[in-house]
Amino acid sequence: MNSGGTDSRWESEGSGGSAGRHAVVVGGSLAGLLAAHVLAGHAQRVTIVERDRFPAEAEAEAAHDAGAAGSTLVGTAPRPGVPQSRHPHVLLEGGQLALEALLPGFMEELRAAGAPRVGMPEDIVQWQSGRWFRRVPASTHIHTGSRAQIERLIRRRVLANPSVTLVDGTETVGLLGDASRVRGVLLRERGDGARGEQRELAADLVVDASGRGTKAPRWLTAVGAEAPHEETIDTGLAYASRVYRDTTGTLGTDASAAALGFYVVPNPDQPYGVVVLPLEDGTHLATFSGLRGDEPPTDEEEFETYAKRLPHPVVHRWMRDAEPLSPVSGFRRTANVRRRYDLPGRRPAGFLATGDALCTFNPIYGQGMAVAALSAVALRDALADPRRTPTTRRVQKALLAASRQAWDISAGADKKMPGAVGNAAVVRPADRVAGWYLRRVQERTPGDPVVGRAFRSALTLKEPLSALFAPKVARAVLFGPAFPTPEEPPLTRDAGDA
Ligand SMILES: Cc1cc2nc3c(=O)[nH]c(=O)nc-3n(C[C@H](O)[C@H](O)[C@H](O)COP(=O)(O)OP(=O)(O)OC[C@H]3O[C@@H](n4cnc5c(N)ncnc54)[C@H](O)[C@@H]3O)c2cc1C
Repeated sequence: MNSGGTDSRWESEGSGGSAGRHAVVVGGSLAGLLAAHVLAGHAQRVTIVERDRFPAEAEAEAAHDAGAAGSTLVGTAPRPGVPQSRHPHVLLEGGQLALEALLPGFMEELRAAGAPRVGMPEDIVQWQSGRWFRRVPASTHIHTGSRAQIERLIRRRVLANPSVTLVDGTETVGLLGDASRVRGVLLRERGDGARGEQRELAADLVVDASGRGTKAPRWLTAVGAEAPHEETIDTGLAYASRVYRDTTGTLGTDASAAALGFYVVPNPDQPYGVVVLPLEDGTHLATFSGLRGDEPPTDEEEFETYAKRLPHPVVHRWMRDAEPLSPVSGFRRTANVRRRYDLPGRRPAGFLATGDALCTFNPIYGQGMAVAALSAVALRDALADPRRTPTTRRVQKALLAASRQAWDISAGADKKMPGAVGNAAVVRPADRVAGWYLRRVQERTPGDPVVGRAFRSALTLKEPLSALFAPKVARAVLFGPAFPTPEEPPLTRDAGDA
């Protein structure tokens, strides 16, 4: 792959033609695994380099089974490289479709492993823009099992391909090559017994999938190339999460229950959020979110009291009576960051970024895993496109495009939150017009079935944002009646239309 517009494919470059084609993926989490899966169709060999050490598959299975039998946070313990694993990870419908396209049968595997499937708005007691949602039949489903389980199942599928090799317990510490071409990575072993020596691993293509803490911009500068321009919007949002067992009979974990969870969506007037969602082991993961200056506490006593900030006491009452099963875990690095490798600059051929390393979102919108999967689909399509040579820049643009809708949602909402900072936090006149329309959409979503369906399809990355402006939806948003919504949190379903 070359950086500019000449026409040789990356397959034909590098060391020794097709026999030597080698792709290295830095980071063995979701984005890295899925990129490796796609690259295996184009390279002789794909090596995933991962800093953490993964448990052997048999060990992971045993740990998972132990978790399913009742320990907190489902067996596979969160590993150090993905501390976000202790927090809820919803898999949006756009991500489910992308995963299924990449790994046929995956969603069935996930369901068979017990991942709860939650219908929106039917199964959740949800508050947004001052209203409770009518719990009408679902127009979309999210999966709410643990992130560790999703990753484990993807890892199992991807590593079953003999041309994909995992080198774990090994950190990438730099790039090989120069400003015109990346030729591999510099590695260092980690863990007990590691001697700290560095070694080189040659590659025709290097893909950075090392997540939100990526050091690739520094590695690029070190080989004489240019670091990407970074766009940031940071609301200072923090998470605090704790696992509970419902002992009140209010929440269950499958469709036979009256309700599966709670969801209070923050907005600029009411910046506190909570989400309580089922996990695959029959427990619920409860998470508060709050902005800079009033972050949710990680102290166990204070955690529960934070619920008093919410617009209704229903979650506080539930939490007081439910059984806590874990300590409280916090998380603070939630800024939206987009690295513009697609823009012109001194960029080497043979280097790509994907997943959180390319574009990181405020996690409250639940998009990162879906975007990792959508990006792998974009990589697949860009590499297979017979009409266009997959130059580095072209493929990088396709990867960025796969994250654009998620960025528009996350950055668009966050720049209006109080205290948002960063070079992309500027509200432009066009944002104000769109903001006026979107506020009306949000106000109508809890009661209006047409608007609600369109809003959910865009938010779950299943349909483009333009779905919110389809004539039927625009009529309902601009001229439709305001549908009545429940006065109190609806703890049971509503038989009305979806
Ligand atoms: C609090 C929180 C909640 C979230 N909730 C949701 C949600 O509800 N839904 C959703 O879809 N997404 C959510 N996300 C986002 C989601 O976690 C990520 O988008 C997803 O894990 C895919 O990320 P990734 O593979 O790009 O990076 P990561 O998952 O961060 O993985 C990066 C990997 O690279 C490895 N690594 C890092 N540096 C090196 C190195 N130098 N050498 C080798 N390996 C390295 C790490 O060990 C890790 O395995 C949330 C994120 C956070 C922070």
